[in-house]
Amino acid sequence: MLQFPFFTNKVLKVVEENYRVKTIEIDHDLKNARPGQFIMVWIPGVGERPMSIGNSDPLTISVANVGTVSGKIISLKEGENISYRGPFGKEFTIPKGTKRILVIGGGYGVVPMFFLARETREKGIESIAVVGGRTEKDIIYGKRLGRVCKEVLLTTDDGSAGKKGNVMVEVTPLIESGKIDAVYCVGPERMMYAIATACKNQNVPCQVSVERYMKCGVGICGSCAIDGKLACIDGPVMSAKDALALSEFGKKHRDACGISKDY
Ligand SMILES: Cc1cc2nc3c(=O)[nH]c(=O)nc-3n(C[C@H](O)[C@H](O)[C@H](O)COP(=O)(O)OP(=O)(O)OC[C@H]3O[C@@H](n4cnc5c(N)ncnc54)[C@H](O)[C@@H]3O)c2cc1C
Repeated sequence: MLQFPFFTNKVLKVVEENYRVKTIEIDHDLKNARPGQFIMVWIPGVGERPMSIGNSDPLTISVANVGTVSGKIISLKEGENISYRGPFGKEFTIPKGTKRILVIGGGYGVVPMFFLARETREKGIESIAVVGGRTEKDIIYGKRLGRVCKEVLLTTDDGSAGKKGNVMVEVTPLIESGKIDAVYCVGPERMMYAIATACKNQNVPCQVSVERYMKCGVGICGSCAIDGKLACIDGPVMSAKDALALSEFGKKHRDACGISKDY
């Protein structure tokens, strides 16, 4: 019989990151959690959703209030119970001999980047972070990343924080500099597509996170299937090469009913 780790623990702390994202620290050291993995957070009677792990101790998630389940998760208060299963999915891997990595986050994509940069720093690997958002108020985790990265570069569409433009204005020169050993990115798929393509052209190893609507999170229901792969167990972390080979990656997005549409 398949068995999945299931936990109910107290919310330790809730931090308001911006107008729609809250970070929730949970009274749990999820020792086997790795950067890039996710947990399935369950709100009884409402639903369950995958959330990236932002740190293992205390177990941390950051949730954008976009709909039914996320709206309930961010309304949890300190001291209340939160239930979840995990950790699930593939983690980021670091090529042997890596000295400097580039971590790139768009929206809540910065969440696993903090966990990754924190862990790699403990191994003596230097991180440079690029964080992108539509406007200054969409940027989260800037200060948090500053604690674990050598440098944090911001970009906004309107220039209200950091350089004006999308993340590529900072990312392209860094990838082309020859000083980056590996690139990791999580965020909107068209952003990851642009980064994966730039890395492929420069022969720089790159990993992305392929997120699809997930129901079970453990490879049973098939709702996150793409071209014979399951985003929950063959991903979410994939090499740029594997992601670029997917027919949908960067080209189509899915709604909650699994209907695939062009961007
Ligand atoms: C591996 C993984 C990691 C994730 N990590 C985070 C995280 O760290 N923080 C975070 O806030 N969210 C994260 N998400 C997204 C999260 O799981 C939910 O999809 C999101 O919170 C919306 O759920 P909801 O019930 O609030 O919205 P719903 O009420 O279900 O939907 C609101 C709207 O968004 C659309 N929608 C919702 N989810 C998806 C989806 N996955 N694909 C396509 N359309 C969708 C619906 O069609 C609807 O229009 C992650 C998703 C995956 C797959």
